[in-house]
Amino acid sequence: MANAPAKTPIVDVQNVVKKFAVGNTEVTILKGISFKVYAGEFVIIVGPSGNGKSTLLNMCTGIDYPNNGAVLVTGENIHDMNANRQSLWRGKNVGIVFQFFQMMPTLTLFNNVMLPMELAGKYSGKERKERAEYLLELVQLKEQMHKLPSMVSGGQQQRAAISRALANDPPLLIADEPTGNLDPTSAGLVFNIFKKLVDEGKTIMMVTHDKELAAQVSRQIEIVNGKISRDEFRQRQDWAGS
Ligand code: ADP
Ligand code: MG
Repeated sequence: MANAPAKTPIVDVQNVVKKFAVGNTEVTILKGISFKVYAGEFVIIVGPSGNGKSTLLNMCTGIDYPNNGAVLVTGENIHDMNANRQSLWRGKNVGIVFQFFQMMPTLTLFNNVMLPMELAGKYSGKERKERAEYLLELVQLKEQMHKLPSMVSGGQQQRAAISRALANDPPLLIADEPTGNLDPTSAGLVFNIFKKLVDEGKTIMMVTHDKELAAQVSRQIEIVNGKISRDEFRQRQDWAGS
């Protein structure tokens, strides 16, 4: 009887080392990090400030490269691609959400969501419009969608940024302190959207300092001093109805 096919991890971080030059010295920020994330996981990365959490996420999006080791995302070594291929790859496979939203200030929320679809060319013109509307409705911003980012609240901008991250329907979302700049109500709304997305099959890696949020997900990885100090799987707290 044939064996079941081996499951490919969505993210496969293999002995990643990252060094930065600080003045004349070199500081090792990531000291050989390895872990695998499988489809449908919601992984929260915690750890003290300055210990390499953002650097680690940047390794997984291809925004930055490791000095040693490799990162495979959906089976592909993302640092083996040239810059052009990598940015096309990223546009289709990874949705990125930042702490400070990073919306294009001169574009409406709707056009911010359209932009990655226009760049990736995955959907037809008609599909793009329908999708942008659908994604903004999903985060309850239909009424606001023709406003500029500066005309809406931080929480609304972050929800629009989530729509933008979902534009090309990527399997993986990577979020660096997405609730770090939001009031508790907005943070709760954003987190509820993430939970729903995981229920619908997305995989999420997110850095947060919010212990209450971190306690709700199925896996926590703690980074201390450039190493994994804890990688804990747990029963996901029941979030039905939230
Ligand atoms: P965290 O997200 O856990 O707060 P970071 O990954 O942002 O930590 O940063 C880890 C360390 O790496 C910090 O000391 C930071 O100053 C340093 N660092 C990050 N990016 C760079 C860079 N491009 N050049 C030099 N040092 C950097
Ligand atoms: Mg950080």
